[in-house]
Amino acid sequence: MKDKIILITGGAGGIGQASAKEFLDHGAKVILVDLNEEALKNAKSNLGDENIHLIKADVTNEEDVENYVRETVDRFGKIDIFFNNAGINGPFKEIKDLSKKEFDLVMSINTTGVFLGMKHVIQQMEKQEHGTIVNTASNAAYIGSAGMPAYIASKHAVAGLTKTAALEAADSNIRVNAVAPAAIDTDMLSDIQNNLTPGEPEKSGEAIKAGIPFGRFGTPEEVAKVVYFLASDNASFVTGSMYNVDGGMQAD
Ligand code: NAD
Repeated sequence: MKDKIILITGGAGGIGQASAKEFLDHGAKVILVDLNEEALKNAKSNLGDENIHLIKADVTNEEDVENYVRETVDRFGKIDIFFNNAGINGPFKEIKDLSKKEFDLVMSINTTGVFLGMKHVIQQMEKQEHGTIVNTASNAAYIGSAGMPAYIASKHAVAGLTKTAALEAADSNIRVNAVAPAAIDTDMLSDIQNNLTPGEPEKSGEAIKAGIPFGRFGTPEEVAKVVYFLASDNASFVTGSMYNVDGGMQAD
C-alpha cells in the first residue's frame, strides 16, 4: 500500500476511521471525506498521522462529489482505492408512517451518494487504467426489517449498484466489491439501540447480540480488515462480490 491514494467517504465515522488507520498503518495516503467538519478534525487528531488529508463534502451533492474527486487528483495525481462508505440509519418508522422527505434523505445519502461517488471515481480510474472500489452495503442488503424501510431499500440498491459497476468496469482494470457489515460498534449502532429501547441501550444491545451467532458486536477494525483485503492485490480475482462481516448472521 506504500504511496497508494485511498479516498474514504463517511471517513470521520467509526468504520471510516478504522479503515483509514488500517491503510495508514500499511503506508498509504488517506483522504477523509465527510459532511461533519468537526468530526473530520477529530478523526485527524485521533489518527495522528501526517498522511491524512480532509475534505468536507456532502455525498448527495454532485458538485461536492466532483470536487472531492478533483481535489484528490489535483493534489495526489490519482485515486487507487475508493471506500464509498457514508451512510445513515434514518428514522425508525414503518412505511405507512414514513414521509417521502424522510425516505428520500436516506436514499440520497446511502444510495445516490454511492452512485455519484462511483460515477465520478470510475471516470478517473478509467483514465488511470486501474483502481479498486469497496462500497459499504449491509446485512440490510439481504433482509427486510420492520421499522427501517428506507435503510433496507437503500442497502439493497447498493448491492445492485456494486454488481452492475463491477460488470461495467471489468474491462478497465477496475474491481468493485462491497462489505456487508452487521451490528458494528459505532454511533450508528448506538442510535439503533437508543431507538429500540430509549434510555436503556444495553437492553436492546443484549437482544441484538442474542441474534448474532458470535454473541457479540463486531468492531470497526474487523470491518476495516476486510475492506483492506478487498482493496488489496490479494483480492485480484474478486469483483462484484459482497463480503459479510456479521458474526455469522447471514448464515443463520
Ligand atoms: P458512523 O455514523 O460512525 O459513520 C457514518 C459517517 O457518514 C459519519 O461520519 C457521517 O458524518 C457521515 N455522513 C453522513 N451523511 C453524510 C453525507 N451526506 N455526506 C458525507 N458524509 C456523511 O457509522 P458507521 O457505522 O461507521 O457507518 C459507516 C457505513 O457502514 C454506513 O454506510 C452504514 O450504513 C454501514 N453499516 C454500519 C453498520 C453498523 O452496525 N455500524 C452495519 C451495517 C452497515
